[in-house]
Amino acid sequence: MMASLIEYGIRSPSVLHAMAGVPREDFVLEADRAHAYADRALPIDAPGQTISQPLMVALVVEALELHEGDRALDVGTGSGYQAAVMSACGAHVVSIERLESLARSAAERLHRLNYDVEVVEGDGTLGVPERAPFDAIAVGAAAPRLPIELARQLVEGGRLVVPITDGPNGEQLTRLRLVNGRWETESLGPCRFVPLIGADGYRDAATS
Ligand code: SAM
Repeated sequence: MMASLIEYGIRSPSVLHAMAGVPREDFVLEADRAHAYADRALPIDAPGQTISQPLMVALVVEALELHEGDRALDVGTGSGYQAAVMSACGAHVVSIERLESLARSAAERLHRLNYDVEVVEGDGTLGVPERAPFDAIAVGAAAPRLPIELARQLVEGGRLVVPITDGPNGEQLTRLRLVNGRWETESLGPCRFVPLIGADGYRDAATS
């Protein structure tokens, strides 16, 4: 896995160190432990949900430009793997997950593995205002548009990395940075994620 991350252009020493240290086999289903370090998304314990491909996790976390002691928000906890990588980069991480069962199991796993991550259950499209502001925010699911409440929870100089839907065939990984009180956005390339469901996201197909 590490060789392919380097081959695909991941350069940040702290991200490479974090990716080498977080035990991905502890975040995948028992049946997939043998494939834990394959460069692909794998199913997790909720219908249709996945632990993201390692390369995508590395790209997102590198784009966050985390520094030791940063306050970071991870939207879409899933297995907790990306939150663990962010924590291993030195950030104090709050991670929010809309599905209660995933939030509970990820919190237990992260605690057992000793990562500095607080998991909360709720709609991450609205951020976590009681813990804001954040130096960095990562969104692990595809948003239909820029999630404004998340952008509002950044400190000056803060970074928000979010996949935003770009037509029927995928998303653009987008980085927003708050510079002198203004939001500057840049596109980091195409990507593919499950939908972000919530008040400022997509509607839940199961309930609508
Ligand atoms: N980064 C995660 C990991 O390392 O395992 C994988 C994220 S998975 C691709 C997307 C997650 O986002 C799912 O667990 C899904 O339930 C969650 N999600 C979707 N919409 C959400 C929302 N509005 N707030 C919080 N979590 C959400």
